[in-house]
Amino acid sequence: MLKNNAFRVLSISIILCVVYASWISPLNPIQIANLKIIDSFFYLSSKFNPLPKAGQDIVLINIDDSSLREVNIQWPWPRSVIAEIIKKISANAPAAICVDFVFAGKSVDPLEDSVLMDSLKEAKNVYAAAFFGNDGKYVIPDEALALSLKDFGFVNKPRDVDNTIRRMRPYYLSQSGDVIDYSLSLKVAASLMNSPPGNIAVSVPLSKEGATYIKFYGTLDKFNSIPAWKVLKDAGDLSMLKNKLVFFGVTSESFHDIYHTPLGIMPGMVIDLNETLTYINKSFFRYAGHEVNSIILFIFVLVAVFGGIRLSILSGIALTACEILILLSLGLFMFLKGMIIDPIGPILLMVAATILLHGARYVVLIVENIVLRKEAVTDGLTGLYLYRYFELQLKRELKSAFHINKNLALVIYDIDHFKKINDTYGHEFGNVVLKAIAKSLKDHSRKNNIIARYGGEEFCIIISDMKKDHAIKYAERLRNMVGALEFKTDKGEAVKATMSAGIVTIEDAHSEDPTEFIKAADSALYRSKNAGRDRITVFTSS
Ligand code: GH3
Ligand code: MG
Ligand code: MG
Repeated sequence: MLKNNAFRVLSISIILCVVYASWISPLNPIQIANLKIIDSFFYLSSKFNPLPKAGQDIVLINIDDSSLREVNIQWPWPRSVIAEIIKKISANAPAAICVDFVFAGKSVDPLEDSVLMDSLKEAKNVYAAAFFGNDGKYVIPDEALALSLKDFGFVNKPRDVDNTIRRMRPYYLSQSGDVIDYSLSLKVAASLMNSPPGNIAVSVPLSKEGATYIKFYGTLDKFNSIPAWKVLKDAGDLSMLKNKLVFFGVTSESFHDIYHTPLGIMPGMVIDLNETLTYINKSFFRYAGHEVNSIILFIFVLVAVFGGIRLSILSGIALTACEILILLSLGLFMFLKGMIIDPIGPILLMVAATILLHGARYVVLIVENIVLRKEAVTDGLTGLYLYRYFELQLKRELKSAFHINKNLALVIYDIDHFKKINDTYGHEFGNVVLKAIAKSLKDHSRKNNIIARYGGEEFCIIISDMKKDHAIKYAERLRNMVGALEFKTDKGEAVKATMSAGIVTIEDAHSEDPTEFIKAADSALYRSKNAGRDRITVFTSS
């Protein structure tokens, strides 16, 4: 028994896991659900963790909506304005300046470019952005300007199926497998850590697509920031920029540089900032991988299936709920340790197993119940309803007949001289006769008639919705049908049986009481017997 159960638990768990791994897990909604749970971990950890030390050493100079209003120059600002701001930042001796502009191509006015070049040269530590366009072309700063930069790097990020940015690429590879370039954030982080970008990139755990998760520490409001107009108009104290890593770029929501992230919508520059912090803090996540996820899936499903088979419904549901809590806690714990697992598979399968297995048990129970109930109301020998059930039905029918003024009749049949059949051919043969008569009554009556075995060799039928005349004719027809039957004994003798009947209709009974109704039919039957049997008598109240 125990072995049998263990086998069932094991085989159901394996089937569920295989079905999930083969057909369900690749579906987009499943992947998105997994990512959303991971997002909630990001959200929780960003809510409860302050920015790391390195985060305090970062200041944003943001071209926000207030800057666009305060600086009375049409966007895009000419390079001389950007140059002016860089100059003012640089005057406060920051550790590095990371500018979220590409500076691609030349300005119409060559003076603009030379002013920018001068300020970049003077600052010495400015990093600028580059990006891989949709056509695969690498868009980098203008050659002459690039020479004045400390460096530049790409800012592209891979998007997940829900168009959300969760990951970063430390480098892009060419067809031949050489590094084309490192990301802007990695280069800035590398310079702060006094290590070449390649050295840091080798320690980054990468997925097949060459990407790794960004640790999202916080949204814009979590970082120190100064609006760009204040820098331009000398309206703020910039001495705090000393030795800081300064990010300079657009955060205004009126531009399209805004993306979905686990923490909500964020400007591209703030994503870069989180990315840089991830490199500096080496807070890389490792994806648990197929094997670990499969093992977790199997263990959790196994327990849920066990609960579905061996426990009561309530205990089974409680077990699955506990399991889901444990799984989510495990997921969060592993997340905090830098490991990402897929929680949605086990959750889905545990819920499915609980519903399916308990549901299946419910269905079996219901079927068993129906069978039991049928057995409880029918007679074992003839398959007709038992008297108790018949009485209940008669009560119901009478009530509704009186209520909606419907026709109703009750017939009681009694086999004539049945004792003699028993005495002559034996009790067994008597049973055969009873069964055959019951079958004939059932086969020739209407579907909505309720036929019951009233006593030993007495039967009754409730006829509803039939006029008095029709009901009498109908009852007589059934009686004649039985009278025409021939029962063959073992010796080949043909035995016949007749029945006496009493019928009462609602018109004559005038009573809602089933006992009175039955009594009336019985008295009519009695009269049939007295009058010589093999006939039907209609009850009349007079
Ligand atoms: P009457 O015409 O007056 O009805 O005569 P009867 O012999 O049918 O008289 P009565 O109704 O008193 O007898 C019924 C007989 O039916 C008595 C009993 O042995 C027999 N009987 C009752 N139940 C069963 C049964 O389940 N199987 C068999 N074989 N006989 C039964
Ligand atoms: Mg009898
Ligand atoms: Mg009889």
